[in-house]
This record gives sequence, structure tokens and C-alpha cells, in this order.
Amino acid sequence: MSAPAILTVAITGSQPTKAQNPAVPIAPAEQIESTHEAYEAGASLAHIHVRDDEGHPSSDPSRFAAVQAGIARHCPGMIVQFSTGGRGRLARERASALSLRPDMASLATGSVNFANRIYENAPQLVDELAGTMLRLDVKPEVEIFDLAMLYNARGLIDRGLLKAPAHVQFVMGIPNALPARERVLDFLIEELADQMPGATWTAAAIGRFQLEANHWALRRGGHARTGLEDNIYYEKGRLASSNAELVRRVADLCGRYDRHPASPAEARRLLGLTATATA
Ligand code: MG
Repeated sequence: MSAPAILTVAITGSQPTKAQNPAVPIAPAEQIESTHEAYEAGASLAHIHVRDDEGHPSSDPSRFAAVQAGIARHCPGMIVQFSTGGRGRLARERASALSLRPDMASLATGSVNFANRIYENAPQLVDELAGTMLRLDVKPEVEIFDLAMLYNARGLIDRGLLKAPAHVQFVMGIPNALPARERVLDFLIEELADQMPGATWTAAAIGRFQLEANHWALRRGGHARTGLEDNIYYEKGRLASSNAELVRRVADLCGRYDRHPASPAEARRLLGLTATATA
């Protein structure tokens, strides 16, 4: 019996534009459609950012609500994860959609330099976001952009702000943050097991490292993320035609590592999420 791998699809993000790749879904209806295709291709978790009509990152809860409802309707059981990421959003706006109680939300546990800006997550903001997620029963996906964030997450557990076993995502390949190196991932996995026993993990990498990190994660029993948020190409010089195309490729890889794409019910069980009526 092969082991299930949760395939996350990060459909939109805050950066890629339609000018860069027309397949990037921006309007809520497009986002729902793109998620549905990815779901059919094997994704069981959708990571959601929303945009405004001009394509800029948005905190508008009504946009989040529309996408959440559409996914619930068209993708039975799929896990919905909202981003609380910072790009183009004020700190006080970053929690604004949590009251919609998505299954999960991202939670970066520290600040880090990105290519040309600071991704700011002050200790007070991290505690605040973690506390809100705890109160609303939204499971965090702890985003590890740099090493200290792993130990900060352990600190949240120690202070009762994060439930164990937690779920973390190692994000690799962003300039100035964690490099996409296989031996770095090995170290992170070892430290995770030591600091947060029983935690589940996903490895994500951006750009040309995306697919490589999928291999690394599947081989090591981790979970995998793909999608246009992190990488708009299918291969060098050829744009991805859809989120589903990227998901399908990872789904096809699973067998090579004695894995299979987790069904929504399997993904929920692995993450300790309540089953939905339709899962
Ligand atoms: Mg994101």
C-alpha cells in the first residue's frame, strides 16, 4: 500500500500577473475554475490569495468568501488554506479573512529578507495571528522561510499558541532566504523531528526549483506543493498552461516514490482536520 502525499496547489499568489502567464487565475470565478481542475488532477489542498480588480493583492473578505464557497461547492472535501502573507497588505488586514474559518491558514513565524524587500512578521504579529487561528480553530501551516522560524514555531507550541502535532512548510529558493538545497532539507527534517515530534511537513520551492523540491519531498515522506504562485513555467522556455498541468505532473511522480496523491479524506486525516460532510 503506497503512502498518501498531500498535493497543495498554490493557484495565484500575490505576484504573478496575467501578462507573465495568462493562466494565472485572478478573478474569483477563475480561481474556482482553476482550483477545480487542479482538484481533478490530484490536489487536495488549495492555498489561496485573492486580488482586487486591478490584480493587486487584496484582503477583501468577500473575495475570500466567494472562493471558499466555490471550492466547497465544486471540490468536495478539498482543504482550503488562506494566505495571511504580507505583500501589499497592512498587518491589521492580514487576519481579516480568518473569521471565515478556512480549514487552514499560513503562518510565517519570523521575518526574513526576500529578493528586494523585507517580509516583516514581528513577534507580536506572529503571536496575534497564531492566537486568532487557535481561537477560530483554523489550523496553521507554519511557513519556514528561514531556519529560526522552525524554533520559533516550537516556541509557539511551548507557549500554548500552536497545537501539536503542527504542520509546517519549508519554503526554499527565495533569494535571500532558505536556499533550495537537498542537504538543507535533510537538516530541516531532522530538526523538525527533534523539535516538533509528529509534525507533518511539505517542501515548496520556487521557480526552477519547484519540481526538484517535489522529488525531494516525495522521496522523504513529505508532502508537495506546486502551482502558478511559485512558478509560472512548465519547463524552461514553456509557460505552464494551467495549475492543473503542474499538479498532474506531481501526481504522476508519486508512484516513483511509492506514494499516491492523497484523497481529500486522507489529507484531512493526515492533518488532523475534521472531515467535511462531503469529504
Ligand atoms: Mg502564498
